[in-house]
Amino acid sequence: MRTQIRLGTIWGIPIGLHTSWFLVFILITWTLAQGYMPEDFPGLSVAMRWILAAVTSLLFFASVLAHELGHAFFAQRYGIPVHSITLFIFGGVAQIERQPETAGSEFVIAIAGPAVSLLLGGIFGGLWFVTQSVAFLAAPLFWLARINVILALFNMIPGFPLDGGRVLRAAVWAFSNNFTLANRVAAASGQIVAFGFLAVGIFNVFNGSVLNGIWLAFIGWFLQNAAAANYQQSNLQEQLRDLRVDQVMTRERPMISNRLPVSQLVNEKIMRGGPRYYFVQRDGYGFEEGDARPFGMVSVSDVTQVPAEGWPLTPAEQIMTPWEDLITTTPQTCLTDAMQIMDESNVAQLPVIEDDQLIGVLSRQQVFRYIRLRSQFSN
Ligand SMILES: [Zn+2]
Repeated sequence: MRTQIRLGTIWGIPIGLHTSWFLVFILITWTLAQGYMPEDFPGLSVAMRWILAAVTSLLFFASVLAHELGHAFFAQRYGIPVHSITLFIFGGVAQIERQPETAGSEFVIAIAGPAVSLLLGGIFGGLWFVTQSVAFLAAPLFWLARINVILALFNMIPGFPLDGGRVLRAAVWAFSNNFTLANRVAAASGQIVAFGFLAVGIFNVFNGSVLNGIWLAFIGWFLQNAAAANYQQSNLQEQLRDLRVDQVMTRERPMISNRLPVSQLVNEKIMRGGPRYYFVQRDGYGFEEGDARPFGMVSVSDVTQVPAEGWPLTPAEQIMTPWEDLITTTPQTCLTDAMQIMDESNVAQLPVIEDDQLIGVLSRQQVFRYIRLRSQFSN
């Protein structure tokens, strides 16, 4: 979801509009102006219909945003940062940094969105009730009341990653006290719901309502993908939760001389099954326990910054990241935090520092290998 427009920030959260949202805007405006309004409110002029349809679409957009802000508000209250809110073709998504820590907080964050939608449905419904006789007010208000209720109900379908799926996960988690089980149940429910949408969509296509059918199948396909990705992510988080850096890191600190040409580093070390990172030491200085810190670090990503023709003439120290600029971690750091630091700073490994000394390295590869092996051993 790269192609998006920044709209501003609310409570410090950047609000983005994915370009696919314009498709929905046009579609909704068009169906409102050409279908809903002339049928249910025939007294409106053509110009009035189009203006009202566009305004209603914008209010619908505001309603979806309010729904997401409901999630975001409670996530922040539980101390979970919200990276962004993006509105796109299927509605909105609030990027919440991590899994809530308790079933209770997961429940509140999940239910907050549909609760906001239901509340808005009530407000628009109430306003419609008192303005029923005024067509140009009643038309948008009735539609907005209905769509917000639909939004609340649709999101409460108990299939992950819909809000209802999260509520289900929180419930199983609370009753079983077992997050892994809860995550599995939620993921399975998500698959069932996703394939349900797909099946109904395909059924519709063969029964003549092609556009509806394709749309439903598309939602099913989207839910299926999102459910699978979400399951993997929370599963990974769960596996990392109880681990610390020193349980996974290697104590090996591969060293090279600052004068080693990059060509030699690549051909004799990296390409021959060596690690993807090296500590650079000044020529003539040994590096032993209690010694000074290394000069810097070179990783594969540094090597790729130099064109291959230049490798023989480039010494390692020229492409290395100086020691002072390295992002490091400690042996006691929790693995989730360390992985997050790697993600945020876009590095594949972190030197591990204890008492001002380099004691080892934690790399992303090691973490994945650790998890893979652990799951093999537990089977
Ligand atoms: Zn929601």
